[in-house]
Amino acid sequence: MYFKAKVDKEKCNGCKICILSCPEPNAIKFDPSSKKIEIYESRCKACKICVVICPKQAIELEEK
Ligand code: SF4
Ligand code: SF4
Repeated sequence: MYFKAKVDKEKCNGCKICILSCPEPNAIKFDPSSKKIEIYESRCKACKICVVICPKQAIELEEK
């Protein structure tokens, strides 16, 4: 069992705070077309920083 960050795109407002806070390069990227973020699971280390810092509570850790 392990965990990966998952974004709820209905809640995400594209503020990019999570991108700036994530310690793993390229784990979170901004999608210019949707103006939301994408999380690249293979790079996520489940540190939870983005979960805590998102002002919209748009990210949670998902059990895999
Ligand atoms: S911090 Fe939250 S609201 Fe802001 S871009 Fe990231 S997921 Fe979206
Ligand atoms: S849980 Fe940590 S490593 Fe994973 S996307 Fe969020 S800040 Fe980045």
